[in-house]
Amino acid sequence: MRKITHWIGGAPSESSSERWGDVFDPATGAVQATVPFASAAEIEAAVASARTAAATWGASSMSTRTEVLFSFRHLVNAHRHELAEIITAEHGKVHGDALGEISRGLENIEFACGLGSHLRGGFSSQVSGGVDVSSLRQAVGVVAGITPFNFPVMVPLWMAANALACGNAMILKPSEKDPSPAIRLAELLSEAGLPEGVFTVLQGDGDVVGALLEHPDIDAVSFVGSTPIAKSIYSRGTATGKRVQALGGAKNHMVVLPDADLGVAADSAVSAAYGSAGERCMAVSVVVAVGDIADPLIEAIADRMDKLVIGPGSDPTSEMGPLITGEHRDKVAGYVAGAEADGATVVVDGRTLSLAGEAKDGFFIGASLVDHVRPGMAVYDDEIFGPVLSVVRVGTYAEAIDLVNANQYGNGVAIFTRDGGVARQFTAEVTCGMVGVNVPIPVPVATYSFGGWKDSLFGDAHMYGPAGIDFYTRTKVVTTRWPDPATSSVDLGFPKTR
Ligand code: NAD
Repeated sequence: MRKITHWIGGAPSESSSERWGDVFDPATGAVQATVPFASAAEIEAAVASARTAAATWGASSMSTRTEVLFSFRHLVNAHRHELAEIITAEHGKVHGDALGEISRGLENIEFACGLGSHLRGGFSSQVSGGVDVSSLRQAVGVVAGITPFNFPVMVPLWMAANALACGNAMILKPSEKDPSPAIRLAELLSEAGLPEGVFTVLQGDGDVVGALLEHPDIDAVSFVGSTPIAKSIYSRGTATGKRVQALGGAKNHMVVLPDADLGVAADSAVSAAYGSAGERCMAVSVVVAVGDIADPLIEAIADRMDKLVIGPGSDPTSEMGPLITGEHRDKVAGYVAGAEADGATVVVDGRTLSLAGEAKDGFFIGASLVDHVRPGMAVYDDEIFGPVLSVVRVGTYAEAIDLVNANQYGNGVAIFTRDGGVARQFTAEVTCGMVGVNVPIPVPVATYSFGGWKDSLFGDAHMYGPAGIDFYTRTKVVTTRWPDPATSSVDLGFPKTR
């Protein structure tokens, strides 16, 4: 059985931990590797190595950091197919989708390559007589990144690109469900010239995260994952004096107004609900059908679902792969059963899917469409994180916006309409962090930042882009004067500018 390693001190580090977890091939259901859950000694070694590296990396020149990031960008791009295969092998998503997350990750490296501009400080001359003020940004120190299973390359790059550009050392604790892509990223960073210890991969579970949160030598924590864990990470991390950003789960609504183009809306709903088998924090999981568009829209969505090709992610004809574990697949199936029991109508039932050959034991489930869903049903209230699309029927725009705004989550939302005025009103009124107008998955480009509202984000720091630069730096303001000794005197008053 293949044993996955940590990456400590610039090299793979075999674990002697007593705790290990299974890594599955979701397309066959077989265990393909084991992953260590770092021991206390391994956590200490990783943090110590990062702490030592942070001092020199933080003092390195911007040109050195830029050069490493440029080389890294080149290497990730050159190895994108290989990286995508590693993602597919452990996550299960189809190759094209894995390439998609790599391309969005590359954007983050490209943004970070502009660190010379992003880290520019300010200078004000003569704020008072003979006094100048300047501001500068310095690295925070050692930052931990704790990432979810669903984007094992992109989300680590959301964090690492800016963290490293700003001069921090990063300890990445990837998901224990698909831990190998993180090791490949570490190898590529090393090949790009990153000094040892600046990027560490520590494998493990929630207990390892707990130890990182308690560790006095970790200065900041970036987390992406489910809402209950995000909430707990935020309170535990801030309680030990760390800077914390914690992005949580989602329930993304797609509001379809009666004037929307039916074909565009149906294509978008199917793509955004079932892409990556619904295991995206920006997946559309609720269509809010306004007025008389409901019946034709459901018919158009169901038509398209008929044609979806579900199979192993490594098969180039597959459009949707398996779920991450058998346990998760059963949980998703339970939501469809629960919806039926709660009085909703199962229009397309993904539980009936059966595949032949090796895929027979894979963690597959078909795509489901559930109509007549209402708040209060578990299929609506919970984040399912699988290929289940609910339809809530409402009569008016006002009911639609009230529904979206009453939801506990506020990650992404979309409106489909041909009316610019209503779309503009919607973007102003909706209580979500990322809004799409005729765009079902409005993930911001890397020159903006990513983050939800309400229970989709804890703390006030969005991720990557300008918000990432703010998160990974501390600002220092320097007040300077070069006084004439001849005019110097004692003055116990508070420093005045005039
Ligand atoms: P998860 O919360 O189970 O795990 C995320 C990370 O937390 C993993 O590294 C895991 O090892 C660690 N962890 C697990 N239990 C822990 C505990 N008790 N204490 C501390 N750490 C713990 O999430 P997941 O299942 O890997 O990923 C799916 C979730 O992530 C979904 O809810 C999805 O919406 C969310 N997500 C959000 C975003 C976003 O940007 N808002 C992006 C991607 C995924």
